[in-house]
Amino acid sequence: MVIDGQTFPRDKVCAGWITPPVVDLLDFDADAYRNGGRVMQPITSFRTGLIGGGSTVIDYGEAVSHAIRRFEFDHYLLAGSGVRLRLGEPVKKIERQTGGWLVNGTIRTPLIVGAGGHSCPVARLLGANPGRGEAAVVAQEVEFELDAARQQECRVSGAMAELYFCRDLAGYGWCVRKGNHLNIGLGRQPGYGVASHVEGFVRWLQQEKRIPTRKIPAKMHGHAYLLYDAPGRTLIDDGVLLIGDAAGLACHESGEGIRAAVESGLLAASVILDAGGDYRRSQIEDYPRQLEACLGRRSRSVERRRKVPEWISSSLLGMPWFARHMLLDRWFLRRHQKPLRLGSPR
Ligand SMILES: Cc1cc2nc3c(=O)[nH]c(=O)nc-3n(C[C@H](O)[C@H](O)[C@H](O)COP(=O)(O)OP(=O)(O)OC[C@H]3O[C@@H](n4cnc5c(N)ncnc54)[C@H](O)[C@@H]3O)c2cc1C
Repeated sequence: MVIDGQTFPRDKVCAGWITPPVVDLLDFDADAYRNGGRVMQPITSFRTGLIGGGSTVIDYGEAVSHAIRRFEFDHYLLAGSGVRLRLGEPVKKIERQTGGWLVNGTIRTPLIVGAGGHSCPVARLLGANPGRGEAAVVAQEVEFELDAARQQECRVSGAMAELYFCRDLAGYGWCVRKGNHLNIGLGRQPGYGVASHVEGFVRWLQQEKRIPTRKIPAKMHGHAYLLYDAPGRTLIDDGVLLIGDAAGLACHESGEGIRAAVESGLLAASVILDAGGDYRRSQIEDYPRQLEACLGRRSRSVERRRKVPEWISSSLLGMPWFARHMLLDRWFLRRHQKPLRLGSPR
């Protein structure tokens, strides 16, 4: 059973950029998805650079990512999942009982999978303390429909996602066009104030005439989440495990979290099936190990990269070789990583 505090379709604060492993792992039927009038925009190139500086265009000549709208994507996946749904019902109370759990005083279950995002109540049950003491990235975005006049003015094209880094490399902004919708946002490392950077970023995009100069017709929304580099949360206990943002798994280089949510969900499902109804900690403790085999060992590379002097980072980002092979291939598209194969961890 899936319990979600919201009813679907619902918005999720997200740019909606997905990489090929997400499409492959979900066995996603792109034609069926698009036939329903949903947007799945192929991204074949990137414009990258520094906010306030120059930029370079890297063209792959084929789709290396897609842009979807979470409003549509999440609803589609949920509707196709075939599971029992309890929607519009926030999880408020989780009590341990003999042989399992009692959720909200009405639902008995031997196993809970915490998939409630950064502030997941199941993660709190395992000791997570979102908002206090956790070094979460904070990101803001807005997604809005371009009217005819704004479409004329908008120079961001669907096939080319635009990524612009803050000078201190503590975050980056993006512009992604999905059909008639435009998504603009910026995320930053903890403690490096996001709101003023978002304002400056939007102003700069308008000065550069990349986006319509008239006022953005919707409000920015913010959300926090943990990158895989942050000190990890406790992932399992008797009859409980965490996946996705609840587990704090987003890619430490790019902030991509959908892929890790899908990978962790599939790994968790496989471990749960193998446990054969006995969900004691000892029976599911392969899950953190498999996750580490899939996502790699936690490291501190973001901290290290942020200490790179600005003049070096700005000149590197302006070099097409660096933008293509390091920034995009390695950090954003992670083309060097083998796709997840269940039963044979990387
Ligand atoms: C501004 C921004 C932009 C981003 N852009 C990208 C991107 O382009 N590509 C990418 O890969 N990642 C991106 N991410 C990260 C990505 O959005 C997350 O990593 C991903 O959504 C995690 O999925 P999840 O299913 O774990 O959690 P979520 O998508 O957060 O889903 C959690 C669900 O739990 C429900 N829930 C929460 N609390 C309760 C409760 N108490 N009771 C019941 N239900 C509850 C919520 O309603 C929600 O439906 C972005 C994040 C931000 C903030």
